[in-house]
Amino acid sequence: MKLVFATNNKHKSAEVQKILGNRFEILSLADIGCNEDIPETAETLEGNALQKARFVYQRYGYNCFADDTGLEVEALDMAPGIYSARYAGPQKDSNDNMQKLLGEMDKINNRKARFRTVIALIIDGKEWLFEGVVDGEILENPRGVQGFGYDPVFQPEGFDESFAEMDLSLKNTISHRGRATAKLIDFLNRKEA
Ligand code: IMP
Repeated sequence: MKLVFATNNKHKSAEVQKILGNRFEILSLADIGCNEDIPETAETLEGNALQKARFVYQRYGYNCFADDTGLEVEALDMAPGIYSARYAGPQKDSNDNMQKLLGEMDKINNRKARFRTVIALIIDGKEWLFEGVVDGEILENPRGVQGFGYDPVFQPEGFDESFAEMDLSLKNTISHRGRATAKLIDFLNRKEA
């Protein structure tokens, strides 16, 4: 079965293809000739993931899945959430975002936070959602140079390294995205078994 991953990130789709093997052919947006900006105007991660998957399903006629991720900080009423990428402005700059976050967290003792990924899947018009969560805390200062986004200021529960100090394969096994993707893959493997 052909399945579109509604992302422009070739690494993300290649990674899923590798795990799924040849029973599913994972296509990227470029593969189906979609270079439109897919709207992401919902108020939740679930809403945005569904909006992106429905856009591809309805406009291009492919079975499809899409993901959306946010950093949710307890003391900030779960902000930045859906605004994670553009928290400090439309330039979507990771350093600006981290600085804004650390500023907002100044003198706040409750550092609890989590990353949450939601994947929406549509097959023949039927819809499913898969969620992956990693709990942790916001550090007082950035640590480490690996990864991207908020990795230097996020330390997962049970570890004393930030995501940016952690081996990438370890991060992928415990991460929000890794967990949501594992649920999707498990579902697809059972479905076709
Ligand atoms: P997206 O939905 O995957 O594009 O993620 C939205 C935003 O959340 C990104 O632009 C990053 O700022 C942040 N983010 C998502 N995943 C991670 C991660 O694994 N580490 C750090 N930041 C992340």
